[in-house]
Amino acid sequence: MNFNNNVKYFQVAQGVWGMRIFFVNVYIVANRRGFPKGWVLVDAGVQGSADKIIAFAESIFGAGAKPSAIILTHAHSDHTGALEELLKRWDVPVYAHELEIPYLTGKSSYAPADPTVGRGLMSLMSPFFRKKPLNIDAKVKTINIEEGIPELPEWKVVHTPGHAPGHVSLFLPLNTTLIAGDAFATTKAESALFLLNNIKRLSGPPAYMTTDWKAAKESVRKLADLQPRIAAAGHGPVVRGRELQAELRKLADNFDKVAMPNSGRYVGHSTQADETGTYYVPPFRSSTKFKVLVGLAGALAGFAVTRALVK
Ligand SMILES: [Zn+2]
Ligand SMILES: [Zn+2]
Repeated sequence: MNFNNNVKYFQVAQGVWGMRIFFVNVYIVANRRGFPKGWVLVDAGVQGSADKIIAFAESIFGAGAKPSAIILTHAHSDHTGALEELLKRWDVPVYAHELEIPYLTGKSSYAPADPTVGRGLMSLMSPFFRKKPLNIDAKVKTINIEEGIPELPEWKVVHTPGHAPGHVSLFLPLNTTLIAGDAFATTKAESALFLLNNIKRLSGPPAYMTTDWKAAKESVRKLADLQPRIAAAGHGPVVRGRELQAELRKLADNFDKVAMPNSGRYVGHSTQADETGTYYVPPFRSSTKFKVLVGLAGALAGFAVTRALVK
């Protein structure tokens, strides 16, 4: 853990740093010598965290530091919360997969969160996360998966849908570093206790926002096959080495049992989305309606508790 001008951040690998803001990580990735100068920001945290992200960048690169681009693993509100504020300071392109563009250009909303899965406070609170799509049309650029991102030439972009339709992960073959986004988590992302204490536990994608479990399973398999030696996820601490490879393989092989909820709105019934946005959302089945009501009641209590914990 580094402390620089009172900014607390951690090193992931050479040229890769992370910062945890409340319960979500943002990452800074710098190009190595011999490649285009500069660095990118991966994901943009929760709302209200722009100053923290700027301080993070300036503590590494000095005052006035500015990225050459912002890359989004996906457009959920806990990964894009500070985006509009940051773009007021940094006039830079924002890269996302084509299937995430509708949620960044005001064209579509994500399917609603399912508070009945995951059995945690975060799940119960999930209906209150921002659902309205952002509109940063002028800054958005579509990622070309084959060619990668010009501002980050050494890294491969891997399409890892399931948690979100256009979810991507970033992979550096040189030292097999993986920035996984929410394709999987390294903590139990449904639990406020795990999240706020950053307790290590390699887990499936945050369940309450995952709307295509079949695709999510395939994505974890894809990432396990890359055999990363370093994994930095959107939620949880960095996991490395043998521990990572063994746990990730286990997660991929037992996904249905350990990651996928037994029941839920999107279990066995996936949301459908294309480049125009979400066009099919499975209806609630009556068995889940009651659970949702209980969930909503719990969420109100959850808010109060989390506020107290975050303070
Ligand atoms: Zn997410
Ligand atoms: Zn997330």
